[in-house]
Amino acid sequence: MLPQYIYFISFNRTIFITAVLILLFLFSIFSKFLFTVFTIYLNIINMLVIHMNSTWGRITILEPIVELIYFSSKRESFEYLQKYISFIDVFIILHTAFVGFILYKLVRYHSLKFKPLRITSLVLIVVLLGGLIQVKGNILKLMPLSLIHDYNMVVRRGTAFKDRNEFLKKRTFEKAKNEMIYDKVVLIMGESVNKNFMGLYNDKYNTTPFFSKIKNDIYTFNAIAPATQTHLAIPLTLTETTHQDFNAFFKSKSIISDFKENDYKTYWISNQEGAGGKHESSTTTIARESDFVSFQNYDVALTNPDEVLFDVLDEIEINNSDKQMFVFHLMGSHADYDQRCTDEVILHKNPKNLLEEYQNTIYYSDFFIEELFKKFNNTNKNVLIIYTSDHGETLDENEGGHGFYDSHKESVEIPLVMYSNIKNERIEDLLSDNSNGFFNNESLYSIIKYISSISDEKFVSKSPYFISQSLENIIDYTELDYYYEHE
Ligand SMILES: [Zn+2]
Repeated sequence: MLPQYIYFISFNRTIFITAVLILLFLFSIFSKFLFTVFTIYLNIINMLVIHMNSTWGRITILEPIVELIYFSSKRESFEYLQKYISFIDVFIILHTAFVGFILYKLVRYHSLKFKPLRITSLVLIVVLLGGLIQVKGNILKLMPLSLIHDYNMVVRRGTAFKDRNEFLKKRTFEKAKNEMIYDKVVLIMGESVNKNFMGLYNDKYNTTPFFSKIKNDIYTFNAIAPATQTHLAIPLTLTETTHQDFNAFFKSKSIISDFKENDYKTYWISNQEGAGGKHESSTTTIARESDFVSFQNYDVALTNPDEVLFDVLDEIEINNSDKQMFVFHLMGSHADYDQRCTDEVILHKNPKNLLEEYQNTIYYSDFFIEELFKKFNNTNKNVLIIYTSDHGETLDENEGGHGFYDSHKESVEIPLVMYSNIKNERIEDLLSDNSNGFFNNESLYSIIKYISSISDEKFVSKSPYFISQSLENIIDYTELDYYYEHE
């Protein structure tokens, strides 16, 4: 129980953990079986607590790790194990095996035959549990006893995604009063893009030659992500859900449905895992709102650079006057960085460190975007293209990632770039709004509706708050430091 005492620094928690420890002691007198089960349970919790605190930073609830185990696809779990299992974890497992061995010896060769003592312990157990419930309410919601409660919460959320699909089926359609001004709308959703490594935002780098070349023809915004993990950031960005009320997501449509209602044919073309995953996720339920869905990534071993998405696009006729709306969900700059680009499109052929590997992913995405621009501009139709990312990425020479409990500015500093080949005063107006601040991408949903003339209502979030790890953990971006100083 020592790790829990160390990590859960609060008076109430210390008292509660001590009560649990006394309970364990009473169990040891009352029943071998209860004692064994409870010891094994507490050891599993301790393993998770030590692991989370040594890799994610201070964390006092189980829900995020249960969520990770339950919702992660095979690829994510595999990458997670590769990246975050350290010698500390190996030590904990050995320690647990050792505890298990002692427990086995103890239970096997010792037993208590003195009946009054057992009866006394039973009475004390009842008194202790009764007292705890009296004071704390449902103690099964409290760490370290909350594993089943947390598991149920996560499963319920999984079912909620399916309920969302049902909700969307029954919903009535609403068509905008306005004429649609664009024929082709393209949203490129990057992955783990830290804008400070983009030449467009930081001229110390030559990572975005295409964007830098056309920088007078595009609108470049300062933006932060509403969350640091894909499964929270995507719904916050593409629906009207905000960080204050995430559950609104389960009763709201995404931007895909808005375009569908206005006679666009909608396409979700993804290089992230979707079709292969056994659980519905927040991203796949949004993807399924589209008329056409394609997931190109089925297995970790087969993750190809993002240009595989062109194979899908090339099968779709875009040189026509049909109204079409596309979302390209990229693998972008997700770890492992060296797998995100090809030998042909690469900035540092022999990257010296992680920073250069990461720059290669940015450079590759710039190439991908350039190709998309060409394809859509060649249609000679009215085109709107938006590029952003679900969240940022923190990294230095040796280590990188996202979704840690301790956040930095780079966890959420993302690109937001818009391009319109027709004059659009609403975008210009937004840009001047953005000139001395930043937008929170939780309002990207409303912004896209506004600039594409689906809605006349302008709603822009300048909130500094974002979600890190779990819904309760809301962080103020303006109070954070940078993780890495760009020389
Ligand atoms: Zn992500």
